[in-house]
Amino acid sequence: MPPKRRNNPRRRSSARPPTRVCEDPFTPANVEKLRLLCNSEKERKQEGYILNNLDDREMSYKSRCTACHRRRQKNRRSTKKKKSKSGSGPTRIPLSTEETSPPAPEAGQPVPVAVPAPAPICHYHVGKVLPNTKVWSCCHQDASTKGCIAREAHDYESQHDPALRANWQYHRTPLSSAPLPSHRAAIAIDAEMGTAVNGDLELIRITLIDFFTTDILLDSLVLPSAKLQSYNTVYSGITAEDMEQAIAVGNCLFGRDAAREAVFEFLSPETIVVAHGGNCDLSALRIIHENVIDTLILEGYHGAKKTLGGRTLKNLVKLSRGIEIQCGVGHDSLEDAMGARELVSVFVDMIPDE
Ligand SMILES: [Zn+2]
Ligand SMILES: [Zn+2]
Repeated sequence: MPPKRRNNPRRRSSARPPTRVCEDPFTPANVEKLRLLCNSEKERKQEGYILNNLDDREMSYKSRCTACHRRRQKNRRSTKKKKSKSGSGPTRIPLSTEETSPPAPEAGQPVPVAVPAPAPICHYHVGKVLPNTKVWSCCHQDASTKGCIAREAHDYESQHDPALRANWQYHRTPLSSAPLPSHRAAIAIDAEMGTAVNGDLELIRITLIDFFTTDILLDSLVLPSAKLQSYNTVYSGITAEDMEQAIAVGNCLFGRDAAREAVFEFLSPETIVVAHGGNCDLSALRIIHENVIDTLILEGYHGAKKTLGGRTLKNLVKLSRGIEIQCGVGHDSLEDAMGARELVSVFVDMIPDE
């Protein structure tokens, strides 16, 4: 299936942002220069790249409470098995002080000694946020309000849960028996993410450009693999309406797995992947790839001094190339992929020819 291109006139994306300042022709010498810039395994690990599929312990840290969606914390034991001595189940949190006041003892009766109940640690709502009023249907409190039901312990998914394991299965870039014509020597990648109901980041747009030609190889919305609580439009630039429109005309990739397959069409294990903070992008795709140039890591090569204005892609592209990006509502993964390419080109230009 050919990769789907985005064609959404409502987006502010221009065809080839930002301006093409650098020109690195596709030559063996330039590919070798890129290879010199690839980050080491240690650097990628420090930056949060996934190097191997998750073991049981790492998988357990992906599990979340089935009620409040809190992620299991590292170095803490699950509280699932902890039984309440009082045997009390979930309780609704009182909304007013009237509800919290115990009844007064009758005259002549001993005053009961209050045994403090264990402080509940799991707070959750059982309803959903109503789209128009942004209040919870269960308690009619604001969407940002702490859960109206409380209980003494979280109920984490098992790390052996098949759905959890399927969700967090990573895939190495496949080795084909022969190089495919579609494989590229180097690409730049960027993705946009929404937030799932359980709090996980979910892929909603993927963009790939050829590093040398800047050809747009793939630029598509991705139907999220989990139900979203937010499209993070202020960051992603994508609205629910954008997605509905893309789904209606079939102009999107249907799920993370389809997006990964579309990316793999252009990648061999040798392909150099350029990205800014690419651990998030590759993780959203559940891809393990070895040859990576992460511009966040490259920026650290300047030494211990802080980068004036910070290491955001927007600031770095402005500082090194004088190009303004991310000026509209949200990011644009095409613009950001181009921006990461520009940053790497600065380093390529610094490497002397043989
Ligand atoms: Zn509620
Ligand atoms: Zn919980």
